[in-house]
Amino acid sequence: MKRNDLILAGAILAVAAVILAFQFFRQGNGEQLVEISVDGEVFGTYDLTDDQTIKIGNTNRVVIEDGAARMEWADCPDQICVNHRAVSKNGESIICLPNQVVVTVVSSEESGLDAVAQ
Ligand SMILES: [Zn+2]
Repeated sequence: MKRNDLILAGAILAVAAVILAFQFFRQGNGEQLVEISVDGEVFGTYDLTDDQTIKIGNTNRVVIEDGAARMEWADCPDQICVNHRAVSKNGESIICLPNQVVVTVVSSEESGLDAVAQ
């Protein structure tokens, strides 16, 4: 009986490890996108794995680098967005209130399951 319990416990641990590994894999390799909206309207969607600089009109400039997005430059008076740390995880965002610019990291495979998990 005791040996069977051990086998059962081992099997449960193995399954848990596989699930964890799967989730880690998905987080590390799931397609993350950066969605930029201005004044409530979608300005553009960009791949977080592509290093690039995005000019948002004449007011803001976003840089995507090493899998993270940051506000490199903005003409707003508070500079809160520029001082905000880079965002890279699903749901994180940088908001420039004066210019109504919102930079949000979104997952390309939004599913009901993800919504429940968060
Ligand atoms: Zn700003």
